Amino acid sequence: MLFLKGHPAAGGIARGRLMFLDQPTTAGAGNAPARTLEDFRRALRQTEIQLERLQQQMEQRLEDAAALIFSAHLLMLKGDAFSGAMIRAIKGGAPPAAAEGVPPDLTPETAAASGERFRVMANMNLLSDLLAVREMKAEGVGLYRAEFPFIVRHDFPSEEEQCRIYRRILDELSGQEVVFHTLDIGGDKMLSYYPTPGEANPFLGLRAIRFSLRNQAVFSQQIRALLRAGSERELSILFPMIASLDEWLAVRSIVQACVDALAREGIPHQAAPRLGAMIEVSAAMEIAEELAAHADFLSIGTNDLVQYLLAVDRTNEQISDLYQSHHPAVLRALHRVAQAALRRGRPVSVCGDMAADRRMIPFLAGIGIRTFSVNPRSRPACQLVLRGLDLRRAEEQARGMLKAGTLREVEALMAPPE
Ligand code: PEP
Ligand code: MG
Repeated sequence: MLFLKGHPAAGGIARGRLMFLDQPTTAGAGNAPARTLEDFRRALRQTEIQLERLQQQMEQRLEDAAALIFSAHLLMLKGDAFSGAMIRAIKGGAPPAAAEGVPPDLTPETAAASGERFRVMANMNLLSDLLAVREMKAEGVGLYRAEFPFIVRHDFPSEEEQCRIYRRILDELSGQEVVFHTLDIGGDKMLSYYPTPGEANPFLGLRAIRFSLRNQAVFSQQIRALLRAGSERELSILFPMIASLDEWLAVRSIVQACVDALAREGIPHQAAPRLGAMIEVSAAMEIAEELAAHADFLSIGTNDLVQYLLAVDRTNEQISDLYQSHHPAVLRALHRVAQAALRRGRPVSVCGDMAADRRMIPFLAGIGIRTFSVNPRSRPACQLVLRGLDLRRAEEQARGMLKAGTLREVEALMAPPE
């Protein structure tokens, strides 16, 4: 028998595996800053070597010029804003950070404590994210932001080039669902080679699906590349910033025209892709029922939905305190969309940052969300929250939050901030 002393993380009795660390993990010793500084410098050097190695490998392997990103990472790593600030913080007495690895019990499947199944998928931007998607055992990709291969180039990628990227992703994740989101240009994402007229409000301007519908040659090229890449497997395509049913019907008919053209040309393609509407503007929330009826699935982009519902520019730091994901209007909007999808029997997921927010996950589960798509590094934490969930209690909590009129009332019902 072994008696151990410590601080309980929660009340009650716990049964589980115990792990003994033979190294102290906190900066208790007198030479802590010196040790931490030494550890940090060593970690910095190792990261630099790894980044250089990755860059070399990626230059040979990647189609999307993503290797360029590593140059930026190296510059950032060596810059004062990162390493200088870190060194100053350590010298000033900041404790060493706990190592962030892959938790040993991370699994692709996720079940709540009360037994219900959830899916925790990953968001990805570049081919190089595939490493993290696999490492974090994501149950597929719930959002592939296809604009990144466009952003890192000097010209629109050809249909052939895009097809190779999309096929590579499907090959690497064979057997798993991958949701490809079409070009989301405009707002804060610009193409250096596509001059845009100065817009007073770029987030309310020629963005996302509006850009695609105005540039149908570019749009059709992307759809054709996706249909070709998915010729032998299931293909899910998600369209950003849909604001009306008319827009949605126009999108569907363009996809159908691409399918028909590929069939006429005798090019192998996917003739029945699953088409999803992204719910991220207020208007889409109002017509969610109609969109659900005409789409195969819905995905809620909370990053934009919050900005448009609350009229708070998501990039404006001056008003970042007004960007409140738990605002009663946001909660009610999410509930309406989830209900509309459930009524129409359509899958609905959340792919914005809210899906990784520990305090919001129980609410989302409580209103019927079963699929979460998060940054791969946030996946373990998201899975942990869902594993601890009692769905009946989450539903009850969600009902309470939906009745709340003020932020303060909502906060009183949420888990305390960390
Ligand atoms: C969103 O708006 O929530 C989203 C996932 O898309 P993005 O952040 O790329 O606009
Ligand atoms: Mg968005």
